[in-house]
Amino acid sequence: MAATSRGTTPVPPDVRPRLTVLSGPSGVGKSTVVAHMRKEHPEVWLSVSATTRRPRPGEKHGVQYFFVSDEEMDKLIANGELLEWAEFAGNRYGTPRRAVLERLEVGEPVLLEIDLQGARLVRESMAEAQLVFLAPPSWDELVRRLTGRGTEAPEVIERRLAAAKIELAAEAEFDTTLVNTSVEDVARELLALMKVL
Ligand code: ADP
Ligand code: 5GP
Repeated sequence: MAATSRGTTPVPPDVRPRLTVLSGPSGVGKSTVVAHMRKEHPEVWLSVSATTRRPRPGEKHGVQYFFVSDEEMDKLIANGELLEWAEFAGNRYGTPRRAVLERLEVGEPVLLEIDLQGARLVRESMAEAQLVFLAPPSWDELVRRLTGRGTEAPEVIERRLAAAKIELAAEAEFDTTLVNTSVEDVARELLALMKVL
């Protein structure tokens, strides 16, 4: 188990692992891949976003997300505490800035799992970030996964599928595409891209 790096000497910028951004349409399997990867490599640090979305069954404050009110989100934005934020399918999501910068400073691999708008904002503010797009094997499979997850009402699924069409059309903006046919394979490929393997 790696000792905590907090408080150690900052790593020079040229040898720091790059910030990696994982994006892709809702239901493609981002959370599943990341959970699988972190089970075997807990040293990969995943940013916990703030969101105004309500928790799904089993989701815990501070684990999957920091679940915040609209007012709290307004404050985080106004105080410049978010590295980026975006509205997605009716809710706001944002990446707490300080924790990400601290981890990069001490040389830990950092992963953000965020939407297309957020990925574009990160690219603008951190040119060295690598952007990875997770694609479904097919449109029908994406619909099956999103519907099969059973966590969203039909109208929310419709909004997410509309957003998915826009996200899929932006694949070429990313540095790398990984097709999520096998969770194990994609997790391994992602680790290699992050230089953890
Ligand atoms: P996202 O985080 O991208 O919204 P999830 O990780 O919640 O997506 O996955 C959506 C659904 O698809 C879940 O039910 C998950 O178990 C399933 N899933 C994820 N990856 C695969 C895969 N490679 N093959 C089959 N089903 C998958
Ligand atoms: P979900 O509600 O399914 O957890 O997430 C919906 C979408 O919001 C996903 O595409 C997810 O990657 C994205 N998302 C999660 N956190 C953030 C964030 O901090 N910023 C941005 N821009 N998108 C996020």
